[in-house]
Amino acid sequence: MPNSPSRVAIVTGAGRGIGAAIARKLAGDGFAVGLLDLDEANAKAAADAIVAGGGKALAVALDVSDAGQVASAVQTVADELGPPTVLVNNAGIIRDNLLFKMSEGDWDAVMGVHLRGAFLMSRAVQKHMTEQGWGRIVNLSSTSALGNRGQANYATAKAGLQGFTKTLAIELGQFGVTVNAIAPGFIATEMTAATAERVGMPFEDFKKAAAQQIPVRRVGEPEDIANVAGFLVSDGAGFVSGQVIYVAGGPRA
Ligand code: NAP
Repeated sequence: MPNSPSRVAIVTGAGRGIGAAIARKLAGDGFAVGLLDLDEANAKAAADAIVAGGGKALAVALDVSDAGQVASAVQTVADELGPPTVLVNNAGIIRDNLLFKMSEGDWDAVMGVHLRGAFLMSRAVQKHMTEQGWGRIVNLSSTSALGNRGQANYATAKAGLQGFTKTLAIELGQFGVTVNAIAPGFIATEMTAATAERVGMPFEDFKKAAAQQIPVRRVGEPEDIANVAGFLVSDGAGFVSGQVIYVAGGPRA
């Protein structure tokens, strides 16, 4: 079983929430981590916290849907930390609305960050992975991929990421690269806090109501996702590829 030659990871959307937790987990597991985010200040604060804890981290600002910015951010990580062999496509946005009220901008923005972003990042990083003969890609899907009212754009993007995951697993397996997806259920982050605000509920009440629908009777925390990501990028997960792991406190949303 070949071990990772270069322990360098990139996490997108790592300035806060699930991405920041994954970056912390991977740094704790010995990876030098490139924290890429639209929000430079958040990415820097998250990277600084990792460095203060004894880890190795670098913040890079980018929009994952911009091909030029993706190419230069990946190059910066490769120059400063070494060739990236782990990529977590985590950056995400929501633009929820019922179909009849959904604008073309809402549709395009969500496709741009989730699908185009994951495509551009994976295409840029696979070169380093295949050269090293080892790699791990983890894509953030969602239980919304199974269908969710008010999320025609987001559900479509998250279902699309599952097809993307399985196809990359088939294409890249021969180069020692595994590709998997994590599909979280309700995780307490600014994304779910924004949803609570949109429906006019205090976040604590929103979380309590959600927990009642979840078999383990609690909502998820970013660390619940980070722990699974930590496993999927480990050397020991080398025979797990093309899978979608639902991490939702039960079998479905
Ligand atoms: P979050 O708190 O909103 O964090 C998302 C991060 O992505 C933010 O730092 C955001 O930067 C960044 N981002 C947005 N657009 C970007 C772009 N174009 N380029 C680079 N970075 C960008 O969300 P989260 O809850 O941690 O979610 C992380 C991932 O998990 C997303 O893919 C989400 O769809 C997925 N997910 C979340 C849940 C949940 O319940 N929270 C459930 C299922 C799946 P800004 O701060 O500048 O916007």
